[in-house]
Amino acid sequence: AREPGAIVAAVERIADRLAEEREYLTELDSAIGDADHGTNVNRGFRAALEAVEETDDASAQDLVQTVGMTLVSEVGGAAGPLYGGSFMHASGELAEGITAESTVAFGEAFLEKVRDRGGAEVGAKTMVDALTPAVHTYKKSIEQDDLTPLAALAKAVDAAERGVDFTLPIRATKGRASYLGWRSVGHQDPGATSTLFILEEIHATAE
Ligand code: ADP
Ligand code: MG
Ligand code: MG
Repeated sequence: AREPGAIVAAVERIADRLAEEREYLTELDSAIGDADHGTNVNRGFRAALEAVEETDDASAQDLVQTVGMTLVSEVGGAAGPLYGGSFMHASGELAEGITAESTVAFGEAFLEKVRDRGGAEVGAKTMVDALTPAVHTYKKSIEQDDLTPLAALAKAVDAAERGVDFTLPIRATKGRASYLGWRSVGHQDPGATSTLFILEEIHATAE
């Protein structure tokens, strides 16, 4: 079927992109964290790609569940469990397949899980700052503006990009960067940045 193929293709693009951006993400994390974010997400998505490539005959839901479980088991630190747990939780929304409606529900469930687990609101200088405007923009673009999922994804990517820029001037209040207090100001959040890269690759796969 087409849908599982699209999931594997998206995971492959994400894994390749995060491999390319590994040093950049780690450099961002060296300024306000412990210099491992690029290594973490690169290792996680590389393992996730291997896992989904080994899974024959799986549904979209099963593949996304596998991605989540692999991220949780392969990646320590904050981002692995946040990304992984959210993929696992949101995968259930794809039980009926990939549609405009189910992908809106997926985005909302994903964001809800990140917020539940991490306890970060918008403005805490985390991945939530990129994810929240992306999910809200995607939902509005589909439900109110009647855009296609592809056009809505493009808008979501733009919103995530503004979210990443928003992390630069603010002070971190969650995660490792919060230990720096005001010294975190002026640095871009690595997790918000990897969220943007993941969304860009999902958009590119859908194109
Ligand atoms: P660690 O900080 O444990 O080394 P990573 O470097 O892989 O983990 O990930 C850091 C990123 O995780 C941050 O840039 C931030 O975006 C995200 N993050 C950290 N804590 C939280 C949280 N409580 N809620 C949401 N995102 C968080
Ligand atoms: Mg780190
Ligand atoms: Mg770490």
